[in-house]
Amino acid sequence: LTTALVPTMGAFHRGHLSLMKWARDNSRRVIVSLFVNPTQFGPGEDLAAYPRAFERDARLAEEHGADALFAPRPEDMYSEDHATWVEVPKLTRALCARSRPGHFRGVATIVTKLLILACPNIAVFGEKDWQQLAVIRRLVVDLNLPVKIVGRPTVREDDGLAMSSRNAYLSEDERKQAPNIYAGLRELNKWRKAGEKSAQTLVQRLEEHYRRTMPSGEIDYIQIVHPRTLEPLSTVVGPALAAAAVRFGKARLIDNLLLEA
Ligand code: AMP
Repeated sequence: LTTALVPTMGAFHRGHLSLMKWARDNSRRVIVSLFVNPTQFGPGEDLAAYPRAFERDARLAEEHGADALFAPRPEDMYSEDHATWVEVPKLTRALCARSRPGHFRGVATIVTKLLILACPNIAVFGEKDWQQLAVIRRLVVDLNLPVKIVGRPTVREDDGLAMSSRNAYLSEDERKQAPNIYAGLRELNKWRKAGEKSAQTLVQRLEEHYRRTMPSGEIDYIQIVHPRTLEPLSTVVGPALAAAAVRFGKARLIDNLLLEA
């Protein structure tokens, strides 16, 4: 009897639903957790504003095959004297960790707690949050947690924008510009296939592309890293991941693309 856990923060979109569907098709029991985890939000971040839609989410989870929805309150997950943290420093130096200090400590801690509570055989995560997935893969090995981690491809809007609960923050004009995050990553992949090996040159070209196509966006980072170790690469010859974060007002959007070898 296999049990799959799909951890989420709710405000479901087709990305979440694809994880539930995969879990439904590949296990006997599906547990969806819905918890807007306060410890992974930094001081100035959108914890209070984060979209919440419990009734709709509960219905969608049921319709997409969840047998159980686990939706604890913050005080259920963190007692006042909570003092234990899970940290994976080696994987949380680059990419999102730079502008979100403490974020992955919150993620690693809550996912560990959810895995211990739900005891799933499988836990399913999206590749959109590549660094999160890498951190979780590392911690289950290092902590001997008996669970198989499955990563699933990013689900996108028709114009390529990665589905995200934070897309709801975008104005009409920002929404028109935002698909260029992914379009630009695909351009970078083309430049690379055409022979450009310098990560610095590739990143610079993408910066120019982003400034031109997303005048309302503010680049948080563009980085090319090793897909598993997340070490920044200077030359792109083997496996590589290009990842970007762009801010539109209060919406900070991320995306990534595995570069073909
Ligand atoms: P969140 O609710 O944003 O914490 O996401 C819950 C899970 O859904 C995580 O494993 C995410 O990586 C995954 N996810 C979020 N957006 C997408 C997407 N567009 N496609 C596939 N998975 C996603």
